[in-house]
Amino acid sequence: MLALDANLDTMQQAVSKNAGMLLTHHPLIFKPLGRIDTQSPIGKVVALSLENRIAVYSAHTNLDAARRGINRTLADHLNLKNIQILCRTGPERVKLVTFVPRESVEELRDALFAAGAGTVGAYTCCSFSSEGAGTFYGTQETRPAVGEPGGLERVPEVRLEMVLDPGMVNPALMVLRDHHPYEEPAVDFYSLLPAESGEGLGLVGDLRLESTVEEVILDLVTLLDARTARLVGDKEARVKRLALCAGSGGSLLELAAESGADLFVTGDIKYHDARGAQEAGLAVLDVGHFAPERYGFEKFGVTLESELKIAGAEVEIIYAQEKDPFLAVPGSQ
Ligand SMILES: [Zn+2]
Repeated sequence: MLALDANLDTMQQAVSKNAGMLLTHHPLIFKPLGRIDTQSPIGKVVALSLENRIAVYSAHTNLDAARRGINRTLADHLNLKNIQILCRTGPERVKLVTFVPRESVEELRDALFAAGAGTVGAYTCCSFSSEGAGTFYGTQETRPAVGEPGGLERVPEVRLEMVLDPGMVNPALMVLRDHHPYEEPAVDFYSLLPAESGEGLGLVGDLRLESTVEEVILDLVTLLDARTARLVGDKEARVKRLALCAGSGGSLLELAAESGADLFVTGDIKYHDARGAQEAGLAVLDVGHFAPERYGFEKFGVTLESELKIAGAEVEIIYAQEKDPFLAVPGSQ
C-alpha cells in the first residue's frame, strides 16, 4: 500500500487490505524514539505493524531529490523545458592537494590510500599528480628536509591530489604529518560542490507557452484539487519561467528568485517568507503541502509498478485513501 503519510489511519487501511508493506513518502518516526509506548500515536502504528507483520518504508527526501521524483511529475504535467535543479544535493566531498618532493610521492600516496582517501564510487586508489617546482626560504629557526636555513630553495615537487570524505580530513592530516618529509607540508583541502547528478531539491524550467499566473493557478488547482491554495503576487502577471518544489519550499525562495522564475509553486510558506517574496517581485503560489506530494507520490506508484513488472516481481500496488489535514473554511475564498 502506498500512502503519503505513515500514521494510524493509513496503517489501519494497510491491515484491512492485507498489505505486506506500507510504502510512504513521509516517515513515521521523525525524531528518534527512546521507547515504544503502544498508547502513543506512533507506538500504536508500530504495534499494528508488528502484530500484522507489515513493513514500513519511507522514501521522503530521497524521493524529493530523485531524478524522477515528485517535482519531476509536476514539471512533466506543466510541460516544462530546459529543466534545472534549484538546489543540487549529493554527497559532500573534499579535495586534498599537497606538494611533495618527487622521491616521497609514492610513500605518501600509498599511506593516504591505506587510510581510505582516493575513493570514487567503486574505485579505490584514485589520485592525480603533476610535476612542478616548489620554492621556500627557511629562516634560521627552521630545520628544512631539503637545503639549509637561510637560503632560497627551488625543489622539484609533485602536486598530489585526491578526493576524500569530509570525515577523513583529520586522519589524512595525521597521515601527512607522518609520511611527508617536510617540517611544514603545504596542504590544501577544497570543499567540492556535489557533482552534476541530476538530483536535488526543487526545479526550474520554462513554460512552452507564456501564460498568466491565473492560468497556471487554474491548471494546478484543478489538477491537484488544492482547495487551500494561496497566492503572493499578481494574478495577471506573465509567467515564462516557473520554479517548483512540492512540500515545504520556503527555504528555496531565494534560489527560486535567483533562477529567474516568474512564479514559484510550493507549499508551507510562512508570512515573512511571503513578504520577502513580494518585496523581491517573485510571485509564489502556495498549493499546500499535501496536494502536490500526494499527486507526485501516486505518479511514483505508477512508475514503481512498471519497474516491478520489468523486474519480474508480482506485486499489487494499492493506494491508501488520504485527505489533506487542512480544510478550506467556508467563506474564506
Ligand atoms: Zn512533504
